[in-house]
Amino acid sequence: MDFKLTEDQIMLRDTVRRIAAENFAPKAAEFDEKETFPQENFRILSENGLLGIQVPEEYGGAGAGMLSLILTVEEVARACAGTSVILTTQALASDPILLGGTEEQKKTYLYRLASGECMGACAITEPGAGSDVSGMKTAAKKVDGGYLLNGSKIFITNGGVSEIITVLAYTDKEKGNKGISMLIVEKGDKGFTVGKEEHKMGIHASDTRELIFEDVFLPENRLLGGPGNGFKILMQTFNYTRPAVGAQALGIAQGALDAAISYAKERVQFGKSLASFQGMQWMIAEMALAVETARTMVYRAASTIDAEPASPDIPRIASMAKWYASDTAMKVTTDAVQIFGGYGYIREYPVERMMRDAKITQIYEGTNQVQRIIIANQILK
Ligand SMILES: Cc1cc2nc3c(=O)[nH]c(=O)nc-3n(C[C@H](O)[C@H](O)[C@H](O)COP(=O)(O)OP(=O)(O)OC[C@H]3O[C@@H](n4cnc5c(N)ncnc54)[C@H](O)[C@@H]3O)c2cc1C
Repeated sequence: MDFKLTEDQIMLRDTVRRIAAENFAPKAAEFDEKETFPQENFRILSENGLLGIQVPEEYGGAGAGMLSLILTVEEVARACAGTSVILTTQALASDPILLGGTEEQKKTYLYRLASGECMGACAITEPGAGSDVSGMKTAAKKVDGGYLLNGSKIFITNGGVSEIITVLAYTDKEKGNKGISMLIVEKGDKGFTVGKEEHKMGIHASDTRELIFEDVFLPENRLLGGPGNGFKILMQTFNYTRPAVGAQALGIAQGALDAAISYAKERVQFGKSLASFQGMQWMIAEMALAVETARTMVYRAASTIDAEPASPDIPRIASMAKWYASDTAMKVTTDAVQIFGGYGYIREYPVERMMRDAKITQIYEGTNQVQRIIIANQILK
């Protein structure tokens, strides 16, 4: 891959690859089996300064840019997709503060997230509001000195292990999307509770929760970007976080391709290795083509964000990267299971987990149908 990475980016990628291979890969199956949150992996990511790689240094991050975040997510996902969710969710929680926060909010909340002091979550989805956030019921009513938050959220990644949560709520329902705001909730806020944990098809190492808000008082300084700016902040956040989900998908696909190549070389049938059959060779070549194409798209989206953060192309290329890379992850992991034959269907081998982990990348951060809507809107307008 001769994409123009700087020396620093190559060093970062190789360092994260080593950390992930030594620490995350050996325990990926165990975390998947036990469905437990990998607290020790959070600690390793934090100690290595990887939780705010794209966040400017003055706010606790590494100031290394989006492409560096993408390289980090890809390498971690290649070893353990569940652990890579910690990185993508930290970005999803941090970016609304980075994009819409005041200096004080950035120095307080963003700093804690980017420096790896604690984990963050971002709460948008509700039972009646998935692809269409306007169906949301959660509301923040203006009261003396702040807001009173009421409502509930579902499917919130790391909701049970986070201390800082960026929450989407109506401050004025009559105004539609212009009446939506983004607020910061802290774990200890009175009236905030964590509800049931979901049991999922894949990414078992991530924590997926219901969050409940009952008369949670939030002072004025918890509102991000002023009242009514929440929808705009969310859309800008997604422009930045969709390539990161693309990188997660890319890492899963690369991990499955690596496993399929090794297996095809070792497994002997009809007196020859699987890798010697043309049918297998073509399948592997097609998988490699899709992975390389996905990598080009994801790196291009990230590089554009780094070079031209206000480029009007970003929503389209961010959506394209997320859509293509996640479809690639699903196809490549399914083909990897096929190359393993019956063994691919058995939990002892990693490709079965990778195929389950890949599926979510087609669903969250906007389903791939939603990505098509965004791309078509931008092309046709
Ligand atoms: C493991 C997991 C983690 C998650 N983490 C988070 C999180 O951290 N924070 C958060 O806020 N949310 C999170 N989510 C929620 C996730 O973002 C939503 O599930 C997703 O946006 C889809 O919403 P929905 O499930 O309500 O599906 P729906 O919106 O009901 O969609 C159902 C189907 O209809 C399709 N569809 C909907 N509208 C259209 C249309 N106009 N045209 C064509 N097709 C359409 C969709 O593509 C989909 O295939 C998570 C979900 C899961 C499963």
